[in-house]
Amino acid sequence: MTNDLTRGLVELDRQVLWHPFTQMSEWSPLVIARGEGNYLFDTDGRKYLDGVSSLWCNVHGHHHPRLDHAVRTQLDKLAHSTFLGLTHEPGIRLAGALLEVAPKSLSRVFYSDSGSTAVEIALKQSFQYWQLRGRTSKQKFLRLGEAYHGDTLGAVGVGGIDLFHRIFGPLLTSSIAIPSPSGTDGSYALQRLEEELERRSYEIAAFIFEPLIQGAAGMLVHPPGFLKRAAELCRRYGVHLILDEVATGFGRTGTMFACEQEGVDPDLMCLAKGISGGYLPLAATLASEEIYSAFLGSHGEMKHFFHGHTYTANPLACAVGLESLALLRESTMANVRERIPAIKVALDRLASHRLVKQVRQVGMMVGIELHPVDGQFLGREVCDQARSHGVILRNLGDVVVWMPPLTLQESDLELLEHATTRAIDQRAR
Ligand code: PLP
Repeated sequence: MTNDLTRGLVELDRQVLWHPFTQMSEWSPLVIARGEGNYLFDTDGRKYLDGVSSLWCNVHGHHHPRLDHAVRTQLDKLAHSTFLGLTHEPGIRLAGALLEVAPKSLSRVFYSDSGSTAVEIALKQSFQYWQLRGRTSKQKFLRLGEAYHGDTLGAVGVGGIDLFHRIFGPLLTSSIAIPSPSGTDGSYALQRLEEELERRSYEIAAFIFEPLIQGAAGMLVHPPGFLKRAAELCRRYGVHLILDEVATGFGRTGTMFACEQEGVDPDLMCLAKGISGGYLPLAATLASEEIYSAFLGSHGEMKHFFHGHTYTANPLACAVGLESLALLRESTMANVRERIPAIKVALDRLASHRLVKQVRQVGMMVGIELHPVDGQFLGREVCDQARSHGVILRNLGDVVVWMPPLTLQESDLELLEHATTRAIDQRAR
């Protein structure tokens, strides 16, 4: 049953809005009214498990008392002031706390407000570093095939998902694709990487990729050791390693950051999504002291980094980010570690479904790849169907994604598995 409020909002939405990544002519709006723990509620009172943690950013569930309190307390002091030429306590304290848990190669935090801007900043910092050091031919970037690093033009320039990016080709700076190592032992990708580095490291600024797993590419898992070996090659050939931990960061893969699992220290690291617990737009690019120090000089030398956004380091977002990090360390990381094996067991069951081609998992990042039926991809239909079983899911083509809040409980996982299986069964008919 749909009530008057819902009907009115849906009608107005249809008149005035244009939603991201959405074919508006075919879309029916679902109006979310509130969130509680791992669940969302629509304006008709229906309850759904947030199976994609509100686009991969929610960490500790919705309406968390400690996170709410952090925002409210900060709101009584300062909602916003610029970080250009001024500073503030939540921004300073969060930067300190981030560096405590980040790889030890990183010593500087540059804030922005989305994953895309964190990536733009890393690319620009690497580029300007080489210019400042007199290595002016180092202007190109290496990336993985099928890479996704965001939707702003610089981030699209190091992207490789044709469906999203091809049309913008004429607007982009070129990047060099290294074949994705997923589904292989990684030796071919590493060989191609070394060939490129040997041939033209003089013109390459950095290699950017997501450690352990490429998320939006379809949850493509890298073979063990790829990250470590790629990092060694970057080091050997004098090319920056930029790790995009926008999706993998803040506990998602079972460790605070994915790169810890192979003991890798990047030169630049991009963070967003979970950084504020999924409450407010915030991002950070973490840089090494070597990169940072190249930008130092007298004001007149004009070496500084000319980049910033109005809402850079918003104090409300930083305050909630600080509390989110504390919660992760106190309890949420432990829940992730407990839940990962149970997710694997559920996926093993799903893997035997005749319509499931492959299941892929790194920590609490999951892709369930479906076989096409009569040449049609089922991903979107399965996700639409899952709603009627009380779970919000989103697909990446023929891959159904599970990215629940890190506070997922056993009963939530049962619902997630049940809804996904029922939805696949219904499409199979
Ligand atoms: N990098 C990665 C790995 C991502 O998964 C995403 C978003 O999904 C981005 C960057 C872009 O983040 P945002 O949507 O916050 O701009």
